[in-house]
Amino acid sequence: MARQHFLVVAYPGQGHINPARALAARLARATGAHVTLSAAVSAHRRMFPSLAAPDEEVHDAGADGGGGISYVPYSDGYDEGFRLFAGDGEAAWRHAETFGRVGREAFAGVVDRLAARGRPATCVVYAFLMWWAADVARERGIPRVLYWIQPATMLAVYYHYLHGLEDLVTEHAGEPEFTVAMAPGLPPMAIRDLPSFFTDLGDTRLAAAFHGVRTTIEQLDIDRRSSSKPPMVLVNTVEELELDVLAASFPDLDILPIGPAATSLDGGAAAAARASRDLYKHDEKGYMEWLDAKPAGSVVYVSFGSMSVVSRRQKEELRRGLAATARPYLWVVRSDDRDDGDGDLHAGDGGMVVEWCDQVRVLSHGAVGCFVTHCGWNSTLEAVACGAPMVAVPQWSDQDTNARLVAGWGVGVRAATGADRVVEAGELARCVETVMADTEAAAAVRRSSAAWKAKVREAVAEGGSSDRNLKAFLDRIANVA
Ligand code: UDP
Repeated sequence: MARQHFLVVAYPGQGHINPARALAARLARATGAHVTLSAAVSAHRRMFPSLAAPDEEVHDAGADGGGGISYVPYSDGYDEGFRLFAGDGEAAWRHAETFGRVGREAFAGVVDRLAARGRPATCVVYAFLMWWAADVARERGIPRVLYWIQPATMLAVYYHYLHGLEDLVTEHAGEPEFTVAMAPGLPPMAIRDLPSFFTDLGDTRLAAAFHGVRTTIEQLDIDRRSSSKPPMVLVNTVEELELDVLAASFPDLDILPIGPAATSLDGGAAAAARASRDLYKHDEKGYMEWLDAKPAGSVVYVSFGSMSVVSRRQKEELRRGLAATARPYLWVVRSDDRDDGDGDLHAGDGGMVVEWCDQVRVLSHGAVGCFVTHCGWNSTLEAVACGAPMVAVPQWSDQDTNARLVAGWGVGVRAATGADRVVEAGELARCVETVMADTEAAAAVRRSSAAWKAKVREAVAEGGSSDRNLKAFLDRIANVA
């Protein structure tokens, strides 16, 4: 096989960088190829805070277990970062426009610089929302593949929504129980289980954010029209988890499920080194030692990911609900999501509150018996891979659909929330008991979680579905290049 140079390009959010980095590491390990990861300057600076020049390229030789990864940032016009929920709809549209224009140009510069140095990219892997990277690659004749970092179910839902179902779904957006046959291979889906972009029509920030999804899917259409071969899509899922939709929903795409892309599932020093490059600084409290001292399956782990804004009222309900279970808990409250007085969140009731942790290590710890999660796809898949039963409290984007998958696999329950998405203390405690208590129903959830964990581990092992699909991708790319 001619020496490849994979250029993986990702949006500057933790939930985007994590699967991109995991895939980059796997490509480097599997092929010894050059792998470059390009993330926006705002993320690059946070990953590498002590560079002499803040936007300097970094070559990370050993930490990813292969030939290493080069990090070459692009500017998207928001070098200090952008927070969707900190502003209004106008700010969100401004961001979408700038991101599309400035990011595209800067990324074209990255591609051309690599070529001028004699190391041209031979394959551009454009992750979710990085639609213009496909354009840039197409203009230069570089093979490209979409890296879908949400479940295949979500790709099917978006794809079919944008190919004929938009009007119907919009017409019924206010009817949570109305069901729609969204895609072949999927049972009819209730409006409440569809992404909030379709249903929360009053929030113009969501319309701006959805623009990136729409334009990403459009890239597949452009490639489909211009080539006799179906466009290739790598999906961060596990074939066994989504067999029906994978088999039925994508006749005109070449779909390869290669997940789970969790950076530290393999454990060890390389994993720890990667986690230390998160966009958030790890809390120095000894949370792993704290977990070590807890009985097996006794701890409730709570996190709402890297983007969600958890309201003060929600925090108070969580605190009371957790206290009501009388179970020890480890709760992530990010430094950028703290209100005055949050220092008291864990006062004297057996919990530990941290600003950020190594989530996969936490989920892998035997003391963790339940994960209260917003159901971001990375968190969801990490929990499945670690066998941690979930209490789903979805907030926005794909999370309602992910919560439905969790319930469908029998690996957790979805908490009831009000229109403001707040789960109340009593409901939280009830859900936690539903997966942790000494009852037959809870034991069944734990058994399903353990069974799926085993299947996912098989998928990534040599000869498993994920491993085979990655090899199939490498073969296809070798034949295109
Ligand atoms: N994460 C982490 N430490 C934390 C909280 C989250 O490492 O304290 C990681 C988590 O493992 C996951 C990512 O951050 O890989 C969050 O991605 P997800 O898709 O779950 O949600 P998002 O942040 O995109 O809403």
